[in-house]
Amino acid sequence: MHCVADNDADRLRRQLNYFVDNARDNERKQRRFQEQELQFIKTTGLEALLETFFVDFRQRFNHDTVSLLLLDPDYEVRRILENLGIELQRYPELHFSDDPDTLKTLFGHRLRPLLGKALPRAQLFGGSARPPASMAAFPLIRNARLIGSFNIGSLKARRYTKNSATDFLKRLVEIFAVCFENAINNEKVKLLGLLDPLTGVHNRRYFDQRLAEEVSQSLRQQKPLSCLFLDIDHFKKFNDNYGHQIGDRVLQTVASIIKSQMRLSDVLGRFGGEEFSILLTNTAQKEALEIAERIRQSIEAHQLELDAQSPLHITLSAGCSTLEAPQASQEQTDLGDQLVATADAALYASKEAGRNRVSFRPMTEQSKSD
Ligand code: GH3
Ligand code: MG
Ligand code: MG
Repeated sequence: MHCVADNDADRLRRQLNYFVDNARDNERKQRRFQEQELQFIKTTGLEALLETFFVDFRQRFNHDTVSLLLLDPDYEVRRILENLGIELQRYPELHFSDDPDTLKTLFGHRLRPLLGKALPRAQLFGGSARPPASMAAFPLIRNARLIGSFNIGSLKARRYTKNSATDFLKRLVEIFAVCFENAINNEKVKLLGLLDPLTGVHNRRYFDQRLAEEVSQSLRQQKPLSCLFLDIDHFKKFNDNYGHQIGDRVLQTVASIIKSQMRLSDVLGRFGGEEFSILLTNTAQKEALEIAERIRQSIEAHQLELDAQSPLHITLSAGCSTLEAPQASQEQTDLGDQLVATADAALYASKEAGRNRVSFRPMTEQSKSD
């Protein structure tokens, strides 16, 4: 009899220990999740949030891999990242989908988390060097809209199974979705302050900020930096002859033609009125002049069709200047101003010589004449 009672007591003790251990584990787990939630909430800016997800979250929970698949049909998120200067290569597990049905097909109409081995690995984790053997994918939902998928991958095939508990994770994903939406909205507001509302290209404030950055970058890397100054010829006559609204359309058309001729790394700003300025990174005089000439020709070739009127012929004049790498010893702020002033002087020369042309002025000549 004693024996049986002892066995019972042992069993009870073991059970009790198990429950206590379990409760402690859960408490620790909960604390870790709470810390992670706070970390997401505390971040300011999209870049910090991505960093928190891809580095902090992965490390804190020792995940083999984590990924985000974002629904971005209008390229809005990618444009924001590009404007922030965040290179996509930095986050190989940040994926985008242009097709809203991708996620709908994945999660179904009940929008439940997916767990197990048989998820679409390539879609969720791209071409990962160490592909996960089991995965957990959570729908990112904001305002009842499916905006992406929050994914965790393990090299262990049995780490995520259909029956894995997901309560803590589900809550974390909900918090992440709020933080992500906020970060995107904040970046949009910031960008709006730096965009020209009429043409959608950057404004002068943004151009000035980037000018300082690009000058120091060009000095550091010993790479040339060119500046173009563009001014629409006799723009006033469009306003005078057809009204201010047609003038606005001319500005929008010119801005979009210029944009279509530029590379991703170039910086375009509406400097004021009918003047645009462009910074051409890592570009020497010859190539800068070619780009300016290409822009000039594409504007000249374009015919702006107006209702019931003959098409408008638009031309512009351009000035070009280049900061060559060897001028590295000069004062940086001064150099940026000089670069722009020299391009402006070259533009003036184009106007004087009859408009619809491109001129170059070397920096040194400008400095001597000052
Ligand atoms: P030039 O060939 O010498 O450059 O002559 P221009 O007529 O282009 O230059 P000017 O500086 O004499 O005229 C620029 C005009 O641009 C004057 C201004 O009313 C007009 N303008 C400035 N901003 C805007 C705008 O946002 N919309 C419209 N429609 N007109 C604008
Ligand atoms: Mg003009
Ligand atoms: Mg002008």
